[in-house]
Amino acid sequence: MDPLKTLRTTFGFDSFRPHQEEILEAVLRGRDVFAALPTGGGKSLCYQLPALLLPPLTVVVSPLIALMQDQVRGAREYGVPAAFINSSLNAEAARRVYRDVSRGDTKLLYLSPERLALEGFRETLREWGVSLFAVDEAHCISEWGHEFRPDYRSLSTIREEFPGVPVAAFTATATRRVQDDIIDLLKLDDPVAIRGDFDRPEIFYRVQRKNHVGEQILSFVRDHPDESGIVYRATRKSVEETASRLQEFGITAVPYHAGLSDDARRSAQDLFVRDEAQVVVATIAFGMGIDKSNVRWIVHGDLPRSVEAYYQETGRAGRDGERAEACLFFGPQDIAKIRYHIERMQVPDERDRAERNLRTMLRYVESGVCRRTQLLAHFDQEHRGECDGCDVCTGDVHRKDLTVSAQKLMSAAIRTGERFGAHHLADIVCGNTTDRVTQFGHDRLPTFGVGREQTRQWWIGVTQDLEAAGLLARREGPRSGLSLTESGRRVLHGRERFTAMARPEPASTGERKRETDGRNRDTGVALRPDQEELFRVLRDLRLDLARSRQVPPYVIFSDKTLRVMARIRPTDTKALLRVHGVGEVKAERYGPSFLEAIRTFLSDRATG
Ligand code: ADP
Ligand code: MG
Repeated sequence: MDPLKTLRTTFGFDSFRPHQEEILEAVLRGRDVFAALPTGGGKSLCYQLPALLLPPLTVVVSPLIALMQDQVRGAREYGVPAAFINSSLNAEAARRVYRDVSRGDTKLLYLSPERLALEGFRETLREWGVSLFAVDEAHCISEWGHEFRPDYRSLSTIREEFPGVPVAAFTATATRRVQDDIIDLLKLDDPVAIRGDFDRPEIFYRVQRKNHVGEQILSFVRDHPDESGIVYRATRKSVEETASRLQEFGITAVPYHAGLSDDARRSAQDLFVRDEAQVVVATIAFGMGIDKSNVRWIVHGDLPRSVEAYYQETGRAGRDGERAEACLFFGPQDIAKIRYHIERMQVPDERDRAERNLRTMLRYVESGVCRRTQLLAHFDQEHRGECDGCDVCTGDVHRKDLTVSAQKLMSAAIRTGERFGAHHLADIVCGNTTDRVTQFGHDRLPTFGVGREQTRQWWIGVTQDLEAAGLLARREGPRSGLSLTESGRRVLHGRERFTAMARPEPASTGERKRETDGRNRDTGVALRPDQEELFRVLRDLRLDLARSRQVPPYVIFSDKTLRVMARIRPTDTKALLRVHGVGEVKAERYGPSFLEAIRTFLSDRATG
């Protein structure tokens, strides 16, 4: 049993990713494993490879049908005999799978947790013999995770019912609390516990101030032609609007949200996965189970619910290790919308958690601390900053000193007993004699009209900035209103200054400085222009092959593989096998077409 040899011949990779070898070794020795590796860390390989080495059968529990289909397709492309059993199979297809497994023709079997819960089915598994249980997306078992699935609870008995069979749990959700919960609930027996490095150096993180977010998203997408990406929006309505806006400009964008029919959702996902649609605009309903490795960017048009959710969502970019980008458009008006939901939560614990999540998220956008440092801190991982892979570290964040304006506004808040909201405070500093202002005699305050040079809307924005930065806080109860926090008082008394993220000028909406992206970082295969041209030729070929084989393009070869091919230009099988991601099965299946394309490209250039 030589895992490295299998890695090279079957998968076409030179070396293991961090921790893969440790995990494989533990599994092959029959130990239980808990592994938290970031999205794109290469968890599937940790059970796909043992399936080839450990007869008779490796069972993978997976939460979503789409995820199983994807994984099975991907594994088969590598020549790993894989199948799934779930509710999407008709009786005939299921019978075929049973037959193949009992004959020993299928070595990797994906199951839903519901299926595994059936006692009769467990009996069948015992007859077949299982050499490894892998629980993918294992955080689904924990209520502390962000994707709790009650049916995962039935997995807690496999440890006892299949003594001697190792159980390996995989997740990309790495808070300690979730880790403990998974180990506990699956009853893992003295597991080899592995926590990967959660840093994703290939992803560039940025936050931009939003004003006309639809236009900002449009301009972002137009700046990334031909690059696959996901736009996340908070509501179904904004998903639909954003998708139509992109379509108007000839961008192949598909909407995805829970209000669409199953068919519409499946078709949107298929189009995206097959590179027939460049963009999917989605609510958070979209994402888990999308293993598409060439997603190049993730845009958030609204503030995410938590840093953890944000990290999972952005993690869907750059799985192939090539350069990727995560851009979050933030406007303080989002806070009010999230608060509206929080205030309606019935369970106090839930409400507190949501409120804490919101504060951490606000710190992420507002604090001016390296984004990577903040994200990793959330996973108990230290990072010393200066990452050169976020807008803070590259000096791309523009802040404006708003100390004097903040003082005017907070002084109005103090003088009115900290009992009023943003609109009323804005009316006072703007000098608007509304009924409410005169009724309370606020037109006689010294702060009345001190901010006439700006619009009411601008002042409401400042209030939101102050709230986002934690200088003003909303007080609940009968005397509700915005009151000053400790740090608010420090700014009011001139002991500290207040700066806020600059709003983009309307003319430069969404303009980006691409040349600063990921400067000095060595992720990604850089190509010369002629190599880029060959890369595009190979990518078109991949799309043609994918269409005729009805598989997603990235399961044929990843972007990274194509980029390496474009650079080293192999013209025979031996050279092709040296390319990252080309194993024996793929070389045989696709080698001739790709070699042909490369030879044609080279001879066209020689003669042309
Ligand atoms: P995860 O499930 O951890 O999010 P995947 O298993 O989907 O990640 O793997 C992400 C990508 O990394 C896939 O395209 C996979 O082929 C690739 N990959 C896995 N292991 C290796 C390796 N040792 N070398 C190079 N690429 C790898
Ligand atoms: Mg995975």
